[in-house]
Amino acid sequence: MRILVIGSGGREHAIAKKFTQSAQVSEVFCAPGNAGMKKDGIHIVNISELDNENLVKFALNQNIDLTFVGPETALMNGVVDAFDAVGLRIFGPTKAAAELEGSKDFAKQIMKKYGVPTADYATFEGLDEALAYVREKGAPIVIKADGLAAGKGVTVAMDLEVAEAALADIFEDGRGKVVIEEFLDGEEFSLFSFVHEGKIYPMPIAQDHKRAFDGDKGPNTGGMGAYSPVLHLPQSVVDEALERVVRPTVAGLISEGKSFTGVLYAGLILTANGVKTIEFNARFGDPETQVVLPRLTSDLALALDAILDGREPELTWLENGVTLGVVVASSGYPATSTKNLEIPNIPADLNVYYAGVAEKSGKLVSNGGRVYLVSETGIDVASTQKSLYEKLAKLDNQGMFYRHDIGSRGL
Ligand code: AMP
Repeated sequence: MRILVIGSGGREHAIAKKFTQSAQVSEVFCAPGNAGMKKDGIHIVNISELDNENLVKFALNQNIDLTFVGPETALMNGVVDAFDAVGLRIFGPTKAAAELEGSKDFAKQIMKKYGVPTADYATFEGLDEALAYVREKGAPIVIKADGLAAGKGVTVAMDLEVAEAALADIFEDGRGKVVIEEFLDGEEFSLFSFVHEGKIYPMPIAQDHKRAFDGDKGPNTGGMGAYSPVLHLPQSVVDEALERVVRPTVAGLISEGKSFTGVLYAGLILTANGVKTIEFNARFGDPETQVVLPRLTSDLALALDAILDGREPELTWLENGVTLGVVVASSGYPATSTKNLEIPNIPADLNVYYAGVAEKSGKLVSNGGRVYLVSETGIDVASTQKSLYEKLAKLDNQGMFYRHDIGSRGL
C-alpha cells in the first residue's frame, strides 16, 4: 500500500511512522509534513493541508491507496469530501460529520438530543444576554467561543471578572457566538476510537497536560505532554464512557445523516455524578497520539483497510507498562515562538516525533512553538519519568523548555 498522511505536526509524525512499520506499506508520504519526518523514511510533499485540489491530484498521480487526515482544519476544509468525490480512499470524517468538532453549539445539540452526559449550557449571540446569564449563574463558569479556535477558545473562569472579560473579547468586533457552560470538577481523560458506519474500536485512554508550566501553571497550550494508559481510572469508567458517550453520539450522527468515519476523540471528565463530556474532536489529539499509537502492536494500515471495508480489524495494544511523552517547546510558547534554534541529536533509545522544525544547512532547527516530543515506554509512570527526564536533561535544549512533571497525576 502507498499511504498519504495530511498534516505537519508531531501527531502526523506519529501516524506516518506507525504506517512505515506496516509490512503492507511500501511508501509513506506526508503533506506538507516536516523536515524531521525524513529521518524515518517518510517522504515530504510540498502541498498545503488546505489545498484539496492538489492533494487529490497528488493522490491520483501517486496511486495512493489510503489517505489519513491529521488536523481538524483540513477536515473542516472538506478534504474528505474532495477525496470521496473522486473515489479515493480516505480515513476521516466528512465536513458535515466534522461539525462535531467545528461547532461547539452543534456538538452540544447532538449531546442534548441523544442524551449524552455533558455540562449544562446556554448559547448566546449577543454580549448583553451573555453577560446577564453569567451574572445570574455566577463563577466558576466556562466560556467557549463557537467554532475552531486551536485550543484557545475556552476560558475556565474562576471569578466573574474573568468571565466578563472573556465575553467582551469574543464579542469585540460586535459579532460572535458563545457557549456558556457549567463548571465541571474531576479527573479528565481522552478516549480515541476508530469509527466507521456505527462500528466503534476504542483505543487505550490517555491524559494530556495543557498548561505551559510545571504544576499545571501558566497559559493553556496545545499540550505539553501526555501519557497512556491511565491506570488509576478503572476499566468500568472507560466502559461507561463508551456506552453513555461514544456509542450514542456515533448513533446520533448516523440518525442526523452525518455518519462519522475517522478517529473520534472524546474529551471526558469523571465527576462525582459520573463521566461527562467536555468536548469532541473529529481527529486524533496532539500530543496524546504520540503516546497512544506507539502502543499499537498490530498493523495500522491493515486495520484501517479492514474498518473501511466493514471487516473486523485486528487491533492489539501493549498490555503492560506506560508510555510517556514530553513536548520540548521553543521559549515564548504559546504566546510566541523562537525560530532557528539548533535541535539536539536524540539518542536512539528515545522515540522522537518532530513538530515545529525546518531544515537549514542540512541541520534541523526550530520553526514553531512545539518543536519535538520524546517518548519512552516503561513499566510504570515513576520509572519511566525518571529514565526519560534523565535522558532529556543530557540534551542541549538551549532556547527551549519542557515541563518536568508530565505523568505526575498517574503516580
Ligand atoms: P475544550 O477546548 O473544550 O477541551 O476545553 C479546554 C479545557 O478547558 C478542557 O480540557 C478542560 O480542562 C477545560 N474545560 C472545558 N470545559 C469545561 C467545563 N465545563 N468544566 C471544567 N473545565 C472545562
